[in-house]
Amino acid sequence: MSYSGNNMLPICVADMKKLGWSELDVLLVSGDAYIDHPSFAAALLGRFLVSKGYRVGLVCQPRWDRPDDFLVMGRPRLLAGISGGALDSMLAHYTAFRKKRHDDAFTPGGKAGARPNRAIIVYTNLVRQAFPGLPVIIGGIEASLRRYTHYDFWSDNLRRSILLDSKADALIYGMGEYSLWNVVKRVEEAWERNRPVSFEGLNGLCYMAKAEDIERLENPIVLPSHEEIVADSEQLVKASLLAERHIQAANCACVQQVGNRYLVATPPTPSLSQAEMDKIYDLPFTRKAHPSYKEPIPALEMIKTSINSHRGCGGGCSFCSLALHQGRRIASRSERSILSELEKVARAEDFKGSISDVGGPTANMWQAKCGADPAKCKRSSCMFPKVCPNFKDQQDKYVALLRKVLAHPKVKHVR
Ligand code: SF4
Repeated sequence: MSYSGNNMLPICVADMKKLGWSELDVLLVSGDAYIDHPSFAAALLGRFLVSKGYRVGLVCQPRWDRPDDFLVMGRPRLLAGISGGALDSMLAHYTAFRKKRHDDAFTPGGKAGARPNRAIIVYTNLVRQAFPGLPVIIGGIEASLRRYTHYDFWSDNLRRSILLDSKADALIYGMGEYSLWNVVKRVEEAWERNRPVSFEGLNGLCYMAKAEDIERLENPIVLPSHEEIVADSEQLVKASLLAERHIQAANCACVQQVGNRYLVATPPTPSLSQAEMDKIYDLPFTRKAHPSYKEPIPALEMIKTSINSHRGCGGGCSFCSLALHQGRRIASRSERSILSELEKVARAEDFKGSISDVGGPTANMWQAKCGADPAKCKRSSCMFPKVCPNFKDQQDKYVALLRKVLAHPKVKHVR
């Protein structure tokens, strides 16, 4: 039996059997519960890879005192992908006053304590114990924003890249569908030819390299080294601005020396076209939590009537991590794709007529575009100090879209 697309992604051997799978190609591990909705990365990446012909299973919120939960579906053929969840695991556990939180919106019943602190490091170690020699790729917001030397608020310390601390093979930054697919293909190719895996030439990821590998890179952006930042914290500001430049230029690698090794961030994965965005959001998500959960998951309640219209934000605000994760280029879905998701939301038995939002990181940037060449742009914001004359928004189209959503017979209001 082939994967019908109507089921959830497998979380146990019984699920795999229903799909006729004797093994997985890719195991995805997440610090969040499994919610089969495009706002949650494990579901998004899993369904995307399944659509490309790979067999993907999920391990969500595993125990971390032993590797048993990682072993339930057996050793995957190609690799394990690890994420701490939709939030950095330290932020999920502690408030801005460093007080322990008593709840976790991404867990059944909203209960705290279902993931470890620094989940990526802990999960990577457990996967290494469970499956020695298996390539391990880390990703998600925790990995993405900790890819270079960074200030860790909770330990009040400068930490080196999480790629080094986790000892994973590579780190995917930004939105990961195409980067992960390319890594999976690269690992498969190496596996078939019985060769070691090389991540050179792939976009949207970081790997560790030696001095001689750096010489092959064409005009890389060079960040202050980890040691320079530790010696002079002002270098962290310089590094952050250069890292944003790397995302915006999107045409070269970015390098940071750590001891006698080098962290290489390859150019970001190109912003998705409208057709690519539509294909991803048209995947057959059930928009439900896995039926094995007995209690509601607050994050699902919050998001289930929200429709994501685009990615990226031109704001470039200094307090926001988005510029380092999704970047300032806007990738939008078509009106057709958004309205077809609305249809699915409205069909749900518990839909009460309220759409919480149709938006993205910044609601009214749907279909906005840079009218110049963004790779040559030296500004750090399309909005500040004045809206850039090259920034082409589509406010009329957006208002027209909201009116169409409101005109749906089952929709009472769009909040
Ligand atoms: S040229 Fe203007 S619109 Fe284009 S990326 Fe730069 S600031 Fe944004």
